[in-house]
Amino acid sequence: MVQQIAIIGAGNIGHDHIRRIAGSVAGARLSVVFDVDTDRAQEVAAEVGARTVAGVDPLIAADDVDAVIVASPGPLHPEQTLACLAAGKPVLCEKPLGTTVEDCLRVVEAEASLGRRLVQVGFMRRYDHGYRQVKRVLDSGEVGEAVMVHAVHRNPEVPASFTSDMSLTDSVVHEMDVTRWLLGEEVVAVTVLAGRRSPWANAHLQDPQLVLMETASGVLVDVETFVSCQYGYEVRCEVVGSTGTVSLDTPSFGAVTSAGSRGRAVPGHWRERFADAYRSELQSWVDGMAAGQVTGPSAWDGYAATAIAVAAVEAQTRRQRTVVELVDKPALYA
Ligand code: NAP
Repeated sequence: MVQQIAIIGAGNIGHDHIRRIAGSVAGARLSVVFDVDTDRAQEVAAEVGARTVAGVDPLIAADDVDAVIVASPGPLHPEQTLACLAAGKPVLCEKPLGTTVEDCLRVVEAEASLGRRLVQVGFMRRYDHGYRQVKRVLDSGEVGEAVMVHAVHRNPEVPASFTSDMSLTDSVVHEMDVTRWLLGEEVVAVTVLAGRRSPWANAHLQDPQLVLMETASGVLVDVETFVSCQYGYEVRCEVVGSTGTVSLDTPSFGAVTSAGSRGRAVPGHWRERFADAYRSELQSWVDGMAAGQVTGPSAWDGYAATAIAVAAVEAQTRRQRTVVELVDKPALYA
C-alpha cells in the first residue's frame, strides 16, 4: 500500500522532504501541504502534484493523509504532534520535538497513554552510513568499552538571526542525540565553555564554543561547535574505546587539486553532507509504517535531547556545570 504523506511547513527542510518523498522514497506519495505562507505551499505542492489545505486540523483529518511530517518552526512541534496523536496518525516530527522539556513530556505522556509508538523524531544522523559504522564497531566490542568521545560540528556561516544558544539547541542537539544513541545511555550533566571568539563570528555570537557532556557511566563527550568556520560544513566524531578507537568516515565529495595541493573536498552545507541520511530516514519511516511499526528515534529520544539542550543553555548562561534530570522512562520506550 502506498502511504499518503502530508507535510506541515514547506520551508528549508520541509521542501527537501517533499522532493524526497516525491522523487526518491518508495511506497509513499506526498498528498497534502500546509504552510502559513500560502504562496509557498501552493508552489511546492504544485511541484509534486499535491494539494494544499487551509490549516493543520483539516490536513490531519484528511482521508488522503495516512501520516504527517511536521517541519514547521520548533516551538509549534508539540501541539502539531499532539494533534496527530489525537487522530491516531503516525508523525515524523523534525527536531526538536519541542523547545521546552515540559512540552516534550506532554508528547511522551500522550503517546505512552496510547500504548503504541506513532512518533518519530527527525534525528537523521542515526541513518548516516558513517555513524552506523561507528555504532556497529562499538557494539561489536572491537574497540573495547567507550571511555571518551571527541566531536566537531562546524558550519561555514549562519544567518544574523542565529544566536549563541542556537549553537546548542539547533546544532549540538544532533551530537546530544548521537551520544545517547551510540553509547546507549543517558547524559547526566553538561558544561559549556566559551573561549576566544572568531573574528568571523557575527557580532552578538559566541563562536566557537566547547560543550562537555557526561554520561551516566562517566563517558566524557566533548563537542566543538563552530558555526562561522568559513571553509565548509564538517562533522567529526571519534569514539575512544578501552582497546582502540573508531572514527566517523565521511562520504566523498570529490578530490580537489588546487593551488599546489591535492585533497578531499568538504561539502558546503548540511544538506549535501546528510543527503543520503535524510533519504534513508524517510524510507525507513515509510517502510516501518507499512510494517505497522515505527522504530526510529522516539518521542523519548526527542524529550531527552531537549532536556540536554535546555541544560546546556543554562550551563552556558550560568557558566556552570548543569545536571540533566529526566523523569522515569515509560515502559513503551524500554
Ligand atoms: P523554515 O525554513 O523557517 O520553514 C518553516 C516553515 O514553516 C516556513 O515556511 C514557515 O512559514 C512555516 N510555518 C510557520 N508557522 C507555521 C504554522 N503555524 N503552520 C505551518 N507552517 C508554519 O525552517 P526550517 O529550516 O525548514 O526548519 C524547520 C524545522 O526543521 C525546525 O525545527 C528545524 O530545527 C528543523 N530542521 C531540521 C534539520 C535536520 O537536520 N534534521 C535541518 C533543518 C531544519 P514562515 O516562513 O512564513 O514563518
